Amino acid sequence: MPCPKCNSLLVRIEESDICPNCSGIVLLDRKATVNALGTNFKEVESALSSLLKNRVEKNRILKELAWQREKFSRDFFSKYQGFDLSGFLSLNLLIFRIMKEPYFNAKKDINYSIEVKELVNAFKTFIQTKSQYLLFEQGLFEAIRADDKIQVIPNEHYLSILNTYEDNDIWAQSKTEERIKEYKTIFDSIIRNQPLGSVSYTPEEFVDHFYSVISQLYCSLLRNEIYDEVFGLIKKYVEIALTPSKLMDFVNSYQMNENSLAHTSVSEFISIAKKHFGTEEKKTRELLMFYENSTGNFPMFILINGRVYISHRTAFLVYILMHAVIYKDLFNKETEKRSREFEREEVRKSFEDIGWTYSPNRTDKKNQTLEIDGIATFDRQMLVIECKGWKLYPFYEYKNRQNYFVRDIKGIVDGEKFTDEKSTKIPSLTEKIDFVKNHMDVWGLSPSDFDVVSGAIIMRSYPPMSEYKGIKILCIKEIPRIFDLRKGLS
Ligand SMILES: [Zn+2]
Repeated sequence: MPCPKCNSLLVRIEESDICPNCSGIVLLDRKATVNALGTNFKEVESALSSLLKNRVEKNRILKELAWQREKFSRDFFSKYQGFDLSGFLSLNLLIFRIMKEPYFNAKKDINYSIEVKELVNAFKTFIQTKSQYLLFEQGLFEAIRADDKIQVIPNEHYLSILNTYEDNDIWAQSKTEERIKEYKTIFDSIIRNQPLGSVSYTPEEFVDHFYSVISQLYCSLLRNEIYDEVFGLIKKYVEIALTPSKLMDFVNSYQMNENSLAHTSVSEFISIAKKHFGTEEKKTRELLMFYENSTGNFPMFILINGRVYISHRTAFLVYILMHAVIYKDLFNKETEKRSREFEREEVRKSFEDIGWTYSPNRTDKKNQTLEIDGIATFDRQMLVIECKGWKLYPFYEYKNRQNYFVRDIKGIVDGEKFTDEKSTKIPSLTEKIDFVKNHMDVWGLSPSDFDVVSGAIIMRSYPPMSEYKGIKILCIKEIPRIFDLRKGLS
């Protein structure tokens, strides 16, 4: 929340949230700093690109990168390593950008595996610089001058995003490990060198079983335009009706080698693709094969020196991600289902755990549109609850995504529901609270038993604001901190 003394936005410096104004920290001018940060990342980008062109041989570096990417993906499933997003992005984006770059002057006798490691690290720095620029430009970060350098720090707008990421296991490595262990046996059976036909997962079942992994990859690999540059290309597969299971069947028709990538000739690739996907040569080249004259697709099947490379485990990561992209409707349906469960069960349980009585889904028999998600009571207090199972979305780091969030929360209180840009009138939370105050006897409750009747919006993720018109807005995880009143009584 803003500073209680001067109402400035707080910033986070080394784990603590402080008011820059009250503690004498000078924030840099936004406009000048956006320009400076923009120039900075563009310089890093062009230095990186000239370094590349003058050091390495294009085909060799591409081959090495493709292998490193595959090793990264294999480690993810075998060693349960946490998912290093910027590492995976670096490898994919490097392959993508190097392929597009026509001029290279190779330096002889260099060690490509060392070179690739350094390159990936340099590229991660670029990604970090550009991400910081984007976050600052979106108003989610502030800038200060430290040691004569511009340093960016998150402001409180970003903190709710950060909390939501953590809540979704993005960045929390230890949790990712647990999850992957849990899924390991099932994943193993899918990625074994056998046709997928031996595992009976329909898209519905897969989305249901692996919802959190799919959602995690989907939202984190499409978190901003740097990621979208390469992972956004996966939606091109829709054009050839490429389903996740067709992709795995195709990939599994090639033997996976332990120490290198499988590869095949162009003509064989084209004929096998026709068999599996029904695509003619033109479409196969345009949407499946990735090479200098065809860079409009995701760099999955890379053509280097006349051979097409097959990356088994990378394909499996893409297979997971594709469920959110290709089966978007299915995935959204599952999200809705989980949202309803959240409204019915999870919120009730959180209140009951701290001693409240919770009655879900109250309606007024005379006025069916007035639906109340829940009424929670404790001692002489009553809360009229509205639940929102909203979750993480791709492009979560953008101001307009956050603004929609704020708009929708205000809409709940004010009685407006937004679909696209249009708003429709709905019963407002304020009206619902008034209704409860005046008619609680319809549910067998008596006004004389309560001193306070107030409203709260409970959300799955961390909201960008904590109060609006006297109504508390909070993440389900915050219920114990805010509403555990048992201590006060004893
Ligand atoms: Zn202050």
